[in-house]
Amino acid sequence: MTNQSWQQQYLNATATQQINQQPYSKQFDDVYFNDQGGLAETNHVFIKQNHLLRRWQQNTNQASFCITETGFGTGLNLLTTWQAWRDCNDKPEKLHFISCEKYPLSHQDMLQAHRCFPELETFSQQLLNIWHAFDDVFRSGFHTFQMSHDVTLTLAFGDATESLSQLNAKVDAWYLDGFAPSKNPDMWHNDLFVEINRLSHVGTTLSTFTAASQVRKALQDNGFEVVKKPGFGKKREMITAEFRQPNVINSTKHLWCPQSKADTTNKSVTILGGGIAGMCLAYFFKQSGHHVTVVDQHKQPMQAASGNDLAMVMPVLTAQPSPESAFYLRAFEAALRFYQTEEWHATGVRKDLVLAKDKQWADAIQKSKLPNNLITIESDSNVLYTRAGYVDTQLLAARLRLNVDQWIRCDVDQIDSTATGQWRLLDNNQKLVNESELLILTNGIKAQQLMASHDLCLTAKHGMTTTIKPPNDQILKHIQLAQGYVIPNQDQQHWLCGATFDHLDPAQWYQGAQLHHDHWQRNLQLWQGLPLQKVLEKAQVIKAHAAIRATTADHLPICGPLIDQTQFKADYQDLHHGRHWQQYPPAKALGNLYVLNGLGSRGFTSAPFLAQYLYAMIVAEPLPLEADLCKIIHPNRFLYRSLKKTPKN
Ligand code: SAM
Repeated sequence: MTNQSWQQQYLNATATQQINQQPYSKQFDDVYFNDQGGLAETNHVFIKQNHLLRRWQQNTNQASFCITETGFGTGLNLLTTWQAWRDCNDKPEKLHFISCEKYPLSHQDMLQAHRCFPELETFSQQLLNIWHAFDDVFRSGFHTFQMSHDVTLTLAFGDATESLSQLNAKVDAWYLDGFAPSKNPDMWHNDLFVEINRLSHVGTTLSTFTAASQVRKALQDNGFEVVKKPGFGKKREMITAEFRQPNVINSTKHLWCPQSKADTTNKSVTILGGGIAGMCLAYFFKQSGHHVTVVDQHKQPMQAASGNDLAMVMPVLTAQPSPESAFYLRAFEAALRFYQTEEWHATGVRKDLVLAKDKQWADAIQKSKLPNNLITIESDSNVLYTRAGYVDTQLLAARLRLNVDQWIRCDVDQIDSTATGQWRLLDNNQKLVNESELLILTNGIKAQQLMASHDLCLTAKHGMTTTIKPPNDQILKHIQLAQGYVIPNQDQQHWLCGATFDHLDPAQWYQGAQLHHDHWQRNLQLWQGLPLQKVLEKAQVIKAHAAIRATTADHLPICGPLIDQTQFKADYQDLHHGRHWQQYPPAKALGNLYVLNGLGSRGFTSAPFLAQYLYAMIVAEPLPLEADLCKIIHPNRFLYRSLKKTPKN
């Protein structure tokens, strides 16, 4: 794994200089765009030479069109392309614009640069808002933004070659817009062209302002037919290219964890489970015009493990950078974008540093210099997760319910498939409840019961929360977190206290949650010896909730296609001998059957991102997550890891 994916690196904004009110890089001694007209240059070099308008108009039945750029800079290419896209009437359904940037501009510099293009103001404003929120500190790795209903922007902060090596996308057009090859060779490295090859398909086009012979050669060596065209302004020539050679490079090392797209004949999906995971999936599928069916044992969404009235949303920050922390950080950021003002309360989460290990953790966090808008060390005894908060789950449930075309109330007892590839759900009388080509299992631990011959590697934990009325005049500004948590609701009339986290034997997994009479004593105990204990002791209990949560051994969710485990065990049986990965066949997915599960107690943080990711995988849109992080949430990881170990005789 490269540094980029999970090292929690933060890039500071790069200062640019101004020449004739246009941005100029002293570091590379080059301009960001042509001083004879940046907008006209983008139109000539990138939009026209990639034949975008004609291709969009000719491919109206294409679900999405993907452009990938090296060198985001001021975002001028994005803004111009977005304008051209908006003004084009006949086009594919969606545009994905992906761009790599190692030295992001400051908000001020971007604002200044955009002043050169008042005609792009409508588009520019949205980009400036995004930049403003970065506050001149940029987490390396992928960030995905919905710019409009049909335009998605993925920014990959970090080195272009490293970023592209993490990308899973089918690119239709490339914009190579690094500084000149002589001034910035890193942007034109052969390894970059190897990645461009991997991400291209026959018919992919590419254009760049340069005509440098090394670029021409690198493109030819990597499957492109290259043509020189008149350049823009003072530039005599530029390069355009088209990918002709079917891709022979298989540079993906992760054959055991395919991110398979679905193979369906219609735009409809069945989601088994109407908790936060299922409802977020319903949202993404509905947004893109799918018919959405949700099957759940309850009449309403979010009644079981997602059934607390208030749900905490916060990142997981491990003492040392870790894939787990990297994943939850991306999920947290996506959750902040997903929740709407009325259902979201940015209270911050104050964590008490109680045990020696908490203090060591805080020391390590302090040394890692994470930005203050993520976490601040307030004192020796607490830290504040600055932007964390809670969701009003019932408001959210009502909003997300609108995305469901058909809600089927049923406690499903069996899943099977027909010879024609339909997934069937049956009730306990063997009556058919639903039949669909595409099925996603989000029904917690019950998914394991239904997939009896398939090991999902889930376990179940029992959790209880208590809602109390705090004693008079007691106000909590932030969510309090120690061994347990206390979430104050908006008017401070109710505080939600949780949660117990008890082991369950497999025999108890499917029996349903039991609310034990000692729920409040157990939750109160979590505050023993802390200042809040005395306040809580005087509170009045209002209600309680018990649920069974599906979780995994490594505390990460499982998200992706289910794999044919029998076949995989046969193909990978000698994995522990350490044969080269290229000698194994790709794992075979069970057709059109996916899982989003094992969210544990972090479902409201991870579900929006996971749903966006799984949706993108199923419909073959660019994945919003780096390849190295995709594999840590893949449903096949536990089987793969177990086969890697030498068997005990
Ligand atoms: N397309 C941009 C626009 O519309 O403003 C102009 C891009 S400018 C010519 C080149 C960009 O490449 C700069 O923003 C620079 O910071 C970025 N860059 C330089 N080296 C890089 C690298 N190794 N990886 C990613 N980006 C890099």
